Amino acid sequence: MRYEDFYRRSIDEPELFWAEQARRIHWDTPPQKILDQPQPPFRRWFVGGTTNLCYNAIDRHLAERGEQLALVAISTETGITREITYRQLFREVNTFAAVLVSLGVGKGDRVVIYLPNIAEAVFAMLACARIGAIHSVVFGGFAAHNLALRIDDAKPRLLIAADAGMRGGKVLPYKPMIDAALSESIHPPQHVLIVDRGLDAQMTRIEGRDLDYAVLRAQHEGAAVPVTWLEANEPSYLLYTSGTTGKPKGIQRDVGGYAVAMAMSISTVFDIAPGQVMFSTSDVGWAVGHSYNVYGPLIGGATSLLYEGLPTRPDPGIWWRLCERYGVRTMFSSPTGMRVLKRQDAAWLKASDLSTLKWLFLAGEPLDEPTAHWLTDGLGVPVIDNYWQTETGWPAITLMPGLDLKPLKFGSPGLPSPGYRMKVIDESTGIEQPPHQKGVLVFEPPLPPGCLTTVWGDDQRYLSSYFGHFKELLYSSLDWAIRDEDGYITILGRTDDVINVAGHRLGTREIEESVATCPAVAEAAVVGVYDELKGQVPVVFATLKQGVAESPHIVAQAMRQRVVDQLGGVAKPAQVYLVNALPKTRSGKLLRRSLQALIQHTDPGDLSTLDDPAALDEVRRALDRGPD
Ligand code: ATP
Ligand code: MG
Repeated sequence: MRYEDFYRRSIDEPELFWAEQARRIHWDTPPQKILDQPQPPFRRWFVGGTTNLCYNAIDRHLAERGEQLALVAISTETGITREITYRQLFREVNTFAAVLVSLGVGKGDRVVIYLPNIAEAVFAMLACARIGAIHSVVFGGFAAHNLALRIDDAKPRLLIAADAGMRGGKVLPYKPMIDAALSESIHPPQHVLIVDRGLDAQMTRIEGRDLDYAVLRAQHEGAAVPVTWLEANEPSYLLYTSGTTGKPKGIQRDVGGYAVAMAMSISTVFDIAPGQVMFSTSDVGWAVGHSYNVYGPLIGGATSLLYEGLPTRPDPGIWWRLCERYGVRTMFSSPTGMRVLKRQDAAWLKASDLSTLKWLFLAGEPLDEPTAHWLTDGLGVPVIDNYWQTETGWPAITLMPGLDLKPLKFGSPGLPSPGYRMKVIDESTGIEQPPHQKGVLVFEPPLPPGCLTTVWGDDQRYLSSYFGHFKELLYSSLDWAIRDEDGYITILGRTDDVINVAGHRLGTREIEESVATCPAVAEAAVVGVYDELKGQVPVVFATLKQGVAESPHIVAQAMRQRVVDQLGGVAKPAQVYLVNALPKTRSGKLLRRSLQALIQHTDPGDLSTLDDPAALDEVRRALDRGPD
């Protein structure tokens, strides 16, 4: 089917369109009404229908594909690979669900899951879904304070955690962080269920509070836990945003709309049919992990690869070897992950047999052209940029090779996904911009199935954060964009990442892109810094590829020249700093506001989502040394 027809129908006849898509999943009771919105922007999809995410992800496939691999959990940290069939997954999830029930967890209770990328994270999520408990997975790398904030917001009945995670061969004990988080929090759960991986021999337990999953698993092994059917609009899970711009929000998702969005997108966007293999390199703690490591592929009857480890260990060929070994058809990763590989020898891209690999999807951050070209040339498969937010739950702008592949345009994630009514509007007038004019990307309600239904416990914040920016009731993505004459949308960065140089408004991304075209540059971050004369001037922080022979001064000079040639003198970087690492959030997004704060000596705001505090020290040292 043609993309144009599919998309048109989703906009012109949304109820008919979504009623058709709803047939992709199993309903215990079919929906009575497809869309209900007495109080926009709140809306309810598939009203009266009852279903269950776990049933759709597992039970429904048992008859036909019980012996097929459902999940392959690979850890290059522990060296353990677990290959799990749908039947084994059914057994593990039922056992886990029985353990949850035995601890008093039931429908509507929240369960915070603080686990690394291991199979138990998937078991725990699906077990919650099975019994109607609301999971909230917190990325296993967050420190005690981040965890405490989320616990106090979600008020869970239970916390599920591991003894430790691992990164780059180093054991990262979780238990001390959990103890600290629980003593800091006002609403600590009664129990902590510990998946002991045997990594932390020093782990201490608090009698009565801390429980060992292995012990409870043995008690409940082989139990059968009936599915709890839920109305389509009941909450399925909470997921906190990355916090790149501020305090994270508890994004709330429903059951029916999300299941339908997963079933549709895994096939039409990701081109995955039952029995095929998908490899997402995401952590389960992120939106991509929820949707395309767990629910999407499993609802679609596919095999999902889950990876714990670095992309460069034991060597930079590891991800491509996994593609060869498991016959991966669709791979999903992030520009950040790929830029890590780009600092390595390109020969790694050719070292494995990638004949089954059809598509590489990348999301999470702007995909710069040099990285896109480097990958397309090296892998020989189309690289598909796709744009989404934790809030949307699935790509909002993408190409849909599972339907029909429209021409790729480097720099643009493509076209609106079904159900998304998008506009690019003028920030102050709210009027739609003509092609190639920059504006704010907004969605007209109703948001399609799968998107957030509200902010957990705070409808007001849902309204004010997303719908309070314009006179009209519009969802603001808080990202800048332009649309071309073919309807392709390009994201130009966040609305708070704009530099105003002598009255010219420049997107940080445009300058970063330009700098990144210098052959020596691996990655660049640009921030606006106060300037008495011009208001603001761009300052560049950049990392270089390995083995660059030129002096820092020459490289910095080349960057400035490149920007002047491509964007004009007004965009010329006032200063260039070469660093070994850039500050990023745990989800791999550049934390530009931390750079800006360091250079201007202002308050950086919440830095708790920062991945590696050493990156900030690195920047401090560079600032002390002076520009290159
Ligand atoms: P917070 O909202 O708490 O500040 P966050 O916005 O970083 O955190 P996410 O929901 O993980 O949290 O990130 C979504 C954002 O990532 C988008 O709004 C956009 O700025 C950026 N993004 C995602 N995919 C792309 C892409 N393909 N191209 C450009 N930007 C992207
Ligand atoms: Mg955001």
